[in-house]
Amino acid sequence: MMRVDSRSQGLADLHRHLDGSLRPETVAEFAATLGENVPSDLSFYSGMGLEQALSRFSFTLSLLQQPENVRRVASEICEDALKEGVTTLEIRFAPQLHRGAPMEAIVDAALEGISNRSGLLLCGLYGEDPSVLDRLVDIAASRQGVVGIDLAGGPTPSHRFHMTDYAHPFRRAKEHGLGVTVHAAEGRPPSEIRDAVEVLLADRIGHGTTLLEDSATVDLVLKQEVVIEACLSSNAHVGAIATASEHPLPKWLALGVRATVCTDNTLLSCVTSKSEHSLALTLPGMTDSLLNRAIAHGHEGRFR
Ligand SMILES: [Zn+2]
Repeated sequence: MMRVDSRSQGLADLHRHLDGSLRPETVAEFAATLGENVPSDLSFYSGMGLEQALSRFSFTLSLLQQPENVRRVASEICEDALKEGVTTLEIRFAPQLHRGAPMEAIVDAALEGISNRSGLLLCGLYGEDPSVLDRLVDIAASRQGVVGIDLAGGPTPSHRFHMTDYAHPFRRAKEHGLGVTVHAAEGRPPSEIRDAVEVLLADRIGHGTTLLEDSATVDLVLKQEVVIEACLSSNAHVGAIATASEHPLPKWLALGVRATVCTDNTLLSCVTSKSEHSLALTLPGMTDSLLNRAIAHGHEGRFR
């Protein structure tokens, strides 16, 4: 079997959250400076559920309120990814959750840390007022290096706003030439993929684990050449799939879906791009040529 680290084209990781991908030693250092204790159960574990998983970010975010910490972590993520063999990288985060400076200064700090080594995506969050997304689009459109907009987190019954309520800002993002990706169908119905593609004009989908439950949605994804950002370990952690070995990635690739392997959160899921590609190679039905195709989808699917 081909070794993942011998692939000549380098790896691609289009879905890596800044606030879930800190180095453990940086977490310890920031926590010590702020007088906080690092929770012993910070890492994700299998079947914990999306809500529990999202709650882990409240600690990492507490360490990342100031622009200088955002700048440093963005830089370290680029260094780490390069060491993993990643040659196409996109980092994403929700600047509205970092309150130590105005959103513009937080985004600029991330861009300085990245220093042209990665694309940057700004994340709106399920449930928040669409006006926040509009601000993110304005910030993104006026900065080279911000290449796309995302909708992250997940819907809950108590939310006043639903995915389709974000149509206006996402359409504006497209008009400004930004890429659009949406966290959709993360164990939830495949109709979310359809709404994301048809209403929010998504070029890419984060997760999409239930895609194969609806053949019309598969046809749509194939016809529109939608890229699916597959996050194997993360999907098992939040319970979107029962175990990583049941991930539908090989079936997607065999059907011609433009899926690619992503990490989601290197710290919280204890993964690297290399380890996730090695895991993908162990899936039933996976072949070297299918995995090489997935890597190519990642390079081709990057936002510019
Ligand atoms: Zn994500």
